[in-house]
Amino acid sequence: MTRAFYVTTPIYYVNAEPHIGQTYATAVVDTLARYHRLAGDETFFLTGTDEHGEKVAEVAEKRGVAPKEVADQYAKAFRSTWDTLGFSYDRFIRTTDPDHIATVQTILQKVYDAGEIYFQEYEGLYCIGCERFLTERDMQDGLCRDHERAPEQRKESNYFFRITRHFAWLADHIEKHPDFIRPEGFRNEALAMLHDESGLGDLCISRPKDRLAWGIELPFDRDYVCYVWFDALINYLTAIGYPAGPNFERLWKGAEHVIGKDIVKPHAIFWPILLRVIGVPLYLHLNVHGYWTVDERKVSKSLGNKIDPLVMKQRYGFEAFRYFLLRHMVFGLDSSFTEEGLVARVNADLANNLGNLLSRTLNMTARYAGGQVPEPGPPGDLEIEIAEAAPQVAEKVDRHLRRCQVSRALEAIFEFLDAVNRYLETRAPWQAAKAGTAESDRLVATTLYTSCEALRVTALLIAPFLPETAPMILERIGAPGALETARLPDDAARWGVLRPGAPTKKGEALFPRIEPLERDG
Ligand SMILES: [Zn+2]
Repeated sequence: MTRAFYVTTPIYYVNAEPHIGQTYATAVVDTLARYHRLAGDETFFLTGTDEHGEKVAEVAEKRGVAPKEVADQYAKAFRSTWDTLGFSYDRFIRTTDPDHIATVQTILQKVYDAGEIYFQEYEGLYCIGCERFLTERDMQDGLCRDHERAPEQRKESNYFFRITRHFAWLADHIEKHPDFIRPEGFRNEALAMLHDESGLGDLCISRPKDRLAWGIELPFDRDYVCYVWFDALINYLTAIGYPAGPNFERLWKGAEHVIGKDIVKPHAIFWPILLRVIGVPLYLHLNVHGYWTVDERKVSKSLGNKIDPLVMKQRYGFEAFRYFLLRHMVFGLDSSFTEEGLVARVNADLANNLGNLLSRTLNMTARYAGGQVPEPGPPGDLEIEIAEAAPQVAEKVDRHLRRCQVSRALEAIFEFLDAVNRYLETRAPWQAAKAGTAESDRLVATTLYTSCEALRVTALLIAPFLPETAPMILERIGAPGALETARLPDDAARWGVLRPGAPTKKGEALFPRIEPLERDG
């Protein structure tokens, strides 16, 4: 039976070019989407841009242009960057898309009709960065904690979404579904917000048009536009055709979100409540990643502390950069980016471990087996160990990826590669080949077959992480096109699939060693 897998990145706010954190989140979602496609699940991968709100209006005013012009510029930057990096999204949504505006208005009216929205005058300290009124706990020394800017005193009448009355059932849902928000630390954070009496109040969901016109008009009051978060969250429904689109119900059953830890509150609190109020089942999982920090002293001055993914692609190739991001950050924890770290890891894992195994195997296959996958003899203990490790690594990759633990999945794959490299060292076919007996020839053939087959298993499992590299490996070991019909994890768990006699190709090094960086001062 086909399962649905609907996965989303956050939609990115259009006030800057894509940075490392956004590239990471999109690479994670791309990896999950590719895995689920290979697993035969009906997969839909959504990304896009969040375009309304005061920050965009502010930038537009400074530049003397229309807000839509600012939005267009950055939406284009995101889309073309994601295209250049080869992300396999199914839709790039913009919150200025006509179908999104219509969906937001339908939902606003529905929530209003359900009696969940009320009108009230409000006075308080307002942060433009947060685009909301602040409470005591949002501030430190008179400044917004998140934005380190002084809030302004504001008094206005606005519409409020009655969220506080929903906290009890939401806390109950989170407690009964331990993997609703993961990893666990963020689940606890959400529960703490719900249990804190003095914390969250009802959610202001409007802005008077005379102050901010850049937004979606409220269907029940044309003098107001919708608060940017309320509008933004709904993109996840718009994209797959809520409410009546033919794919909506089926895809939504497999919905999960990937976000950064700065936006837990809207996704863990506002969003499930809104879904419940409009009668849509809650999403399955909220997967929360940590922050990337960049050690400024170690990054070249021309880049500042921003890591431009296009510069990284040019310098190292995107597969190497992508691999580093996915492998280095433990999903849910903070990580620090340095180019030295990237170079060290790419050299160790991709050049030495994976790349070396492939080139040694192919060189020996050319030399001792006429450039064809050899016919193996009966397996010995060491061969049986490797063959038995294949279904284990396939199972681990499947389990970790279904929990969004991308670095752990890669760890499992590289442990398998370590074992194969050790196996090759122990069998030392280059020694055995010297004997030239029938028995030693059979041993060489068996060893090389085992190596090739282990590389096939590796290539299938690594395909979601390294989508350009995996097909090249398969082609070289005599299994071109294997990914087109592969079904994961089963085809990686199976042993003895490579056909003896299939032609192999030596080719260039997949990941040439990168020279360590030279630094001035
Ligand atoms: Zn703020």
